[in-house]
Amino acid sequence: MPGKPKSPKRFFASMKIRPIKSLGQNFLLDEIALQKIVTAAQLSPLDDVLEIGAGLGALTRLLGEGASSVVAVERDSKLIPGLKTAVSGLPNVTVVHGDALDMDFKQFSCGQKLKVVSNLPYSVSSQIIMSLLERRGLFSLLVLMVQRELAQRITARPGGRDIGAISVLIQVYMDCSALFNVPPSAFWPEPGVESTVIKLMPLETPKIPESLQKQFTSIVKACYSQRRKMIANSLRSILSRDETQRVLEAASIDPKRRPETLSVEEFGILAEAAAQIEHAP
Ligand code: SAM
Repeated sequence: MPGKPKSPKRFFASMKIRPIKSLGQNFLLDEIALQKIVTAAQLSPLDDVLEIGAGLGALTRLLGEGASSVVAVERDSKLIPGLKTAVSGLPNVTVVHGDALDMDFKQFSCGQKLKVVSNLPYSVSSQIIMSLLERRGLFSLLVLMVQRELAQRITARPGGRDIGAISVLIQVYMDCSALFNVPPSAFWPEPGVESTVIKLMPLETPKIPESLQKQFTSIVKACYSQRRKMIANSLRSILSRDETQRVLEAASIDPKRRPETLSVEEFGILAEAAAQIEHAP
């Protein structure tokens, strides 16, 4: 059995340190919320799990009890002794001290796809999700707690006010759903915002071919960099006037449309048209 860890509050008091806000150090205390996150991951004793931002191990312990192996990454060296104590009776848990943004997640894969289960630090959630997305082939499922507004953006559908570049760039590769909200009172210290647990399932067949990824990403970013503008104007930041006209004509998309009205598939059609023009003699 794992060692009984100190509560985060007592751990910080004993170390004479304070939680670091810029590292998103809000520790989840609510046992029901912790259990719901683990249930959402549908762990089997054969699963390998990656946890980013393991903190003092509240989630790590539960993951270690349900999975074959867990790699628990934590950036703050001061928390590592507490994290190690929390998982001391779980030989299948490996604690890794380091910055998840500087890591190649491939080093954690032992042949089969990983499940990522994490209560992400708010300040770098989007960057971590984008770097997980770049390595999407390594993962079978991601269950992530993020700030509620980010969850709304990631899961937004076209036409809604929350849709943005991140929604489109993720939804082209993943099926995204919001599972449940977690109030500030579930944490110590309490964050100033609500949190939401989301589930991202990599699609077996992405909505665009890998070969169009470069064009797709630059078109989505260009269109959403000026979301109030018509797409014809925004595309001018990456294409000439003539190319813009040819791409929109080839894609049969009205140049006056605004980015939030376009579906993921329509951005794919634009990317395909742009690729054809690039390769035209
Ligand atoms: N997993 C714990 C829990 O649920 O209570 C802690 C979650 S807390 C929201 C986020 C944790 O991520 C903090 O412990 C913080 O130090 C760590 N962290 C912040 N930035 C990080 C990074 N770039 N790489 C790895 N860990 C990071």
